[in-house]
Amino acid sequence: MADVILSILAHPDDAEFLCAGTLIRLQREHGWQVHIATMTPGDCGSMELGPEEISRVRREEGHRAAAHIGAIYHCLEERDLLVFYNERTLEKVTRLLRQVQPRIVLTHSPTDYMLDHEMTSTTTRAAAFNAPIPNFMTDLDLGDRLAAIPHLYYCDPIEGINPVGEDVPPQFCIDISKVIETKTEMMARHASQRDWLLKHHGMDQYLQALRDWSAQRGQLCGVAFAEGYRQHLGHSYPHDNLLGELLGECLRSGKG
Ligand SMILES: [Zn+2]
Repeated sequence: MADVILSILAHPDDAEFLCAGTLIRLQREHGWQVHIATMTPGDCGSMELGPEEISRVRREEGHRAAAHIGAIYHCLEERDLLVFYNERTLEKVTRLLRQVQPRIVLTHSPTDYMLDHEMTSTTTRAAAFNAPIPNFMTDLDLGDRLAAIPHLYYCDPIEGINPVGEDVPPQFCIDISKVIETKTEMMARHASQRDWLLKHHGMDQYLQALRDWSAQRGQLCGVAFAEGYRQHLGHSYPHDNLLGELLGECLRSGKG
């Protein structure tokens, strides 16, 4: 069976923006199966459509973006601006982990510009720890436990800064220069968001923002486009940098 990488992020299009290049490379170069999960269907992402309507649109966009690289999309059906670290989300994320059995999990930075991202990060970190534990939530059928805690990585926070504006430098970057076009094509599947950003932020730069951010991370390590990561290195999580070994680290700052 193919190895599995799973991204668990808050909203449809977060994966395309933050980590799709890495997902594409693992799939193309190593034959890994890619799963892309979002906590919500993006129900607040419209000025005109109601929550049910825009959710329907965005679930479909999520499926199409994932299908573009042969990946599988999952929506955990929480709601925008209401993502919490609680028993229900722990149950959902643990069940998903046990269902897809990932070796590598990507999630949001523990500190980020909005709380849906931070709560998704916290929940994913906890679920990765819990998923191998046989006695966790035994009153629910969560599926076969993981053999071990998966390798857990945090994507860059949006704009690379924490909520008080301090830089959050990556521990290492993955060169995505060869797959930037495919990453952009995945993002283009989220057509509803280009419209929403234009109306809410007055910004008609949906795809350009993705390329600009990837280019900025690329500059850190002397390549055209890159994605930045930090590995969760707390007690009992795997410490070897499997992702970096598979795809090559193009930057490592600080200790190590
Ligand atoms: Zn988001």
